[in-house]
Amino acid sequence: MKHADEYRDGRLARAVAARIAREADPAASYRFMEFCGGHTHAISRYGIVDLLPANVRLIHGPGCPVCVLPIGRIDAAIRLAERPSLTLCTYGDLMRVPASRGMSLLRAKAAGADIRVVYSSLDALAIAAAEPDRDVVFLAIGFETTAPPTALAVRLAAARKLANFSVFCNHVLTPPAMRHMLESAPPGEAGRDAIQGFIGPAHVSTVIGAEPYAFCAEEFGRPVVIAGFEPLDVMQAIVMLIRQINEGRHEVENQYGRAVRPGGNERARAEIAEVFEPREAFEWRGLGSVPFSGLRLAERYAAFDAERRFAMVDRPARDNPACECGAILRGAKLPADCKLFGTACTPETPIGSCMVSAEGACAAHWTYGRFRDRVRRAS
Ligand code: SF4
Repeated sequence: MKHADEYRDGRLARAVAARIAREADPAASYRFMEFCGGHTHAISRYGIVDLLPANVRLIHGPGCPVCVLPIGRIDAAIRLAERPSLTLCTYGDLMRVPASRGMSLLRAKAAGADIRVVYSSLDALAIAAAEPDRDVVFLAIGFETTAPPTALAVRLAAARKLANFSVFCNHVLTPPAMRHMLESAPPGEAGRDAIQGFIGPAHVSTVIGAEPYAFCAEEFGRPVVIAGFEPLDVMQAIVMLIRQINEGRHEVENQYGRAVRPGGNERARAEIAEVFEPREAFEWRGLGSVPFSGLRLAERYAAFDAERRFAMVDRPARDNPACECGAILRGAKLPADCKLFGTACTPETPIGSCMVSAEGACAAHWTYGRFRDRVRRAS
């Protein structure tokens, strides 16, 4: 497949691995966080950890929107869906995420709530147009990548005067989460001391570009290399990060030039700016309350904001105490550190969001059998 096979070539991967081994100073140690769950999956799927010298370590980050959505927000969505004459539309990934009291959106649907899986925000809009007697709420999640299509749906609903359409907005922002990790990690966890550089997100960066990561380099002295999702992309980004560290540089570099422009996607950013405004704080599973890290509908689109329309209230809820998702999302633990991993918790019987989501670290480690990474880390 063009633009995929070239970046999965085993011979080239071994050559890049040899370059990493040559350029990594044996007297130094290198710890890079891959922020994005897409990178975590590529790393697990292609066995990239096995190609790295022992002193080059990758730390999983919180870049999985389903994983970081706190249970309280899913509980709120379920309460909303239980209203008669209301239809909740959402992406399939969220359906099996465990909520409080043994519930999930899937179980709420089985119990009679009208919850429908859609493939895009515009599918939800079409349902609202076709069923004017029902309140149709789109449960929107995702990083900067999925915010523009949600914004477009809201703008179209306003233009078409679709008064029965609204959005329960859970979009989150990447740079504030990176700042939070560098500023606020508990002692001993993957914060400023542990993270020497970031493998920057691919899809998010196609929207926001490279400039929003500049604070990592300028304020914290941490390099960022934006990377594509193929194995050679990730490995090349690791070479670029090692070079920056060795040369005492800390810059934002773009390995994914075939898709990411320095300024990102202007039209997509304009959609976001038109429809959303930042929340003062948003709760992330694992990270806690992160300042200015979430989006809500701007005042001029308040009529399409489900939280305002239905007077929704945030009721914080506790994670399963045995689940280590929080620590995994902070980069403090690996999936195999959780005693439920692969025993009580599997993709068929998920106990935490990290095992449900296609971008979750636990799902990645389980799917690709990366159980021995714990041994590597301990060595
Ligand atoms: S294995 Fe399951 S219970 Fe353990 S951290 Fe991962 S999702 Fe949570």
